[in-house]
Amino acid sequence: TERTLSIIKPDATKRNLTGKINAKFEEAGLRIVAQKRIHLSKEQVGVFYAVHKERPFYDELCEFMASAPVVVQVLEGEGAISKNREVMGATNPADAAEGTIRAEFAESVGENSVHGSDAPETAAEEISYFFAGLELV
Ligand code: ATP
Ligand code: MG
Repeated sequence: TERTLSIIKPDATKRNLTGKINAKFEEAGLRIVAQKRIHLSKEQVGVFYAVHKERPFYDELCEFMASAPVVVQVLEGEGAISKNREVMGATNPADAAEGTIRAEFAESVGENSVHGSDAPETAAEEISYFFAGLELV
């Protein structure tokens, strides 16, 4: 079984949507095998989103992700990476399919409630950025 890194973003934690979002994961067959609430510094977000450094929204994205606590989690299941992205829906909530997390909860293309790894290599990297081996069973 595959694992992926998920983040419940500040717009969602602020509105107490963690439980509703977790219910979507579990209904889709994704198991939450690790989870913690942390408040990232802007610098820590910058490292995490370094691939987007040259994008026009990078600074805004770092400010937003450091604006309030997030919930970082590891989801496990068959095809977890693509299944999670399916449950999340398109980046822009206006394009997200009905029933997806972003369609139901996201506020805008930036404040879009969740992050999910996009490939096996990034999933492994992102999981090890937030979780120590001893925290993962
Ligand atoms: P994520 O990586 O967070 O799972 P994603 O893979 O759907 O989302 P990316 O293209 O990797 O989308 O963008 C990373 C994040 O940057 C988005 O989730 C969103 O929060 C923010 N973002 C993307 N495009 C824009 C934009 N045009 N304006 C503002 N913020 C944006
Ligand atoms: Mg992405």
